[in-house]
Amino acid sequence: MLSLDNLLNYVIFADMSDIIQLLPDNLANQIAAGEVIQRPASAVKELMENAIDAGATNIQVIVKTAGKNLIQIIDNGNGMSETDARLCFEKHATSKIRNIDDLFVVATKGFRGEALASIAAVAQVEMKTRLAESELGTKITIEGSKITSQELCQTSVGTNILMKNLFFNVPARRNFLKSDSIEMRHIIDEFERLALAHTEIFFNLNHNDIDIYHLPKANLRQRITQIFGKNYDQRLVPVNEISDIIQVSGFIGKPEYTKRTRGEQYLFVNDRFIKSTYLNHAVVSGFNELIQRDEFPLYILFIKILPQMIDVNVHPTKQEIKFEDEKLVYAFVNSGVRHALAQNNLTPSLDFNQDAQLNNFDSFIRPHFNHSQEQKIETSNTSSIHHSRPMVSVARNNPQNWEELFKTETDRKENNNANLNMYSSEDSNFTEATAGPYQLHNTFIISPLKSGFIIINQQYAHEKILYEKYLKAFVQAPITSQRLMFPLTINLTAADCILLDSIKEEIKILGFDVENFGNNTFVMHGVPTEIKSGTELKIIERIVDDFKVAPSTDKEKIHTILAKSLACTNAIPINKKLTYEEMVYLIEELFACNNYIESLHGKKVFVQFELEEILKKF
Ligand code: ADP
Ligand code: MG
Repeated sequence: MLSLDNLLNYVIFADMSDIIQLLPDNLANQIAAGEVIQRPASAVKELMENAIDAGATNIQVIVKTAGKNLIQIIDNGNGMSETDARLCFEKHATSKIRNIDDLFVVATKGFRGEALASIAAVAQVEMKTRLAESELGTKITIEGSKITSQELCQTSVGTNILMKNLFFNVPARRNFLKSDSIEMRHIIDEFERLALAHTEIFFNLNHNDIDIYHLPKANLRQRITQIFGKNYDQRLVPVNEISDIIQVSGFIGKPEYTKRTRGEQYLFVNDRFIKSTYLNHAVVSGFNELIQRDEFPLYILFIKILPQMIDVNVHPTKQEIKFEDEKLVYAFVNSGVRHALAQNNLTPSLDFNQDAQLNNFDSFIRPHFNHSQEQKIETSNTSSIHHSRPMVSVARNNPQNWEELFKTETDRKENNNANLNMYSSEDSNFTEATAGPYQLHNTFIISPLKSGFIIINQQYAHEKILYEKYLKAFVQAPITSQRLMFPLTINLTAADCILLDSIKEEIKILGFDVENFGNNTFVMHGVPTEIKSGTELKIIERIVDDFKVAPSTDKEKIHTILAKSLACTNAIPINKKLTYEEMVYLIEELFACNNYIESLHGKKVFVQFELEEILKKF
């Protein structure tokens, strides 16, 4: 890294042949700014942190065009004296530490005295600030590190700082900025982190004259629902683990509400947001087998530890910190999560009779298969094994439940022909196929072929059928939407709203009629006819989630993601009893698919067994 000190040494010993020169002040600042201020979001973060450090109870953040043109932070904190108002823009000017020892007990967010100097180097800044005891405040304008005016002014107690045209003098950096929606996403991330850590403060975030967040003072649970939506209230499990030197508190999400992205995972150490793969592991492994490997549980956890036991000065953005005893913190966080889950009776216990929706395939095929489950199959009077049923091509009568809903009359005949190929293997010695299909363990469908049989995974098969149907909707006719008698309100985070807004038209084709109501709220007027009532909101959340995993602007990709998302949420699960007609329907539709071999998860939809192979086994 280019260090000013090294350069200085170099210059002292310079002679005429030296070509390296000491960089002028404002240029040196721009290099430093490259680390502290990388994008609008970093400025928002630094300025909000200054307001928090100044003891503000009310902080307003105003941004225009994702902070590229304007960022303004108004606080009601301590304000600054006339001298300090000038001094604060100097590099390494800080009121927060006096000497190196202070660094190890620092309780404020800032301490390097670099942020304002960096901001003043790369933007046009205007600041008004006033102490409570002064009648008048100070107004200063500074641009490219040069103070251009200073005067007394009328202003309320606290600080009102406005920066315009970030990187106006560093075009390369300005060009490097991403689209407004991406830069805004970063701003929202920083804003949310600080708002979660400081629930005692009123925060407001306004973008292009629209309030994105309006967060009155609250407790943590309330703040979480202010940010993530009311429906989060029931998802939270409190964590509270206390010892003499360390404490972990906050909330984890119930295991059934895991997401497919890391998005909602927050770890704070002494109220500072940090990123730590090590501690993330401590949290996630606390969930044990309650969650799958590719699922991400929600957590918003606060670690409080003696400041002497951490070092915050290891990274420019201060998002990484060093612990004196990392293992101890790991163990403590891990047991905090376990205890919380245990206290809420959420310890791992898998009972398939209890939860027909359970989607846990790995556990399902474990050898110690649930006994009561076996019993149920034996005693059930509509046994799931139909011994003398005719073969698949028989006409279906009285289709029930979901299958009726998914029935399409398109190309039925052609489909049947395609199916038949599966059932008439020419070179087979076995001419007479046994009857079928049968359902096994409410999960697999066994369907005899002339030359053997196949075992179909019912969930994968149905996912595949739905997926192709939804894809077709984009090129052929949209899915019929059913108007809801009582429109549903969808509360999302600000970032998710931007996302949902961008795919509004696409999901309309799939039958979802949603409307942006502002204030992070959408209203759902209509849903696809086949959606099970009560699952509407979950499906929208899943769609938004899947989009976060693989964001795309490519129409075809968007369609694929949406079709997959909806197919996976709508398909029949494993461990669900099917009627004979339902099984027949599934098989027919599956083999009418363009690709019936590979599941949406890259697995096999069915496996085939040849009778000859089986005979050899005896
Ligand atoms: P740091 O926060 O690391 O000290 P900054 O460059 O962010 O460095 O700020 C420099 C100094 O300016 C702070 O130490 C503080 O004394 C003062 N300051 C900055 N912002 C505010 C504010 N909003 N209210 C009061 N004082 C502020
Ligand atoms: Mg600061």
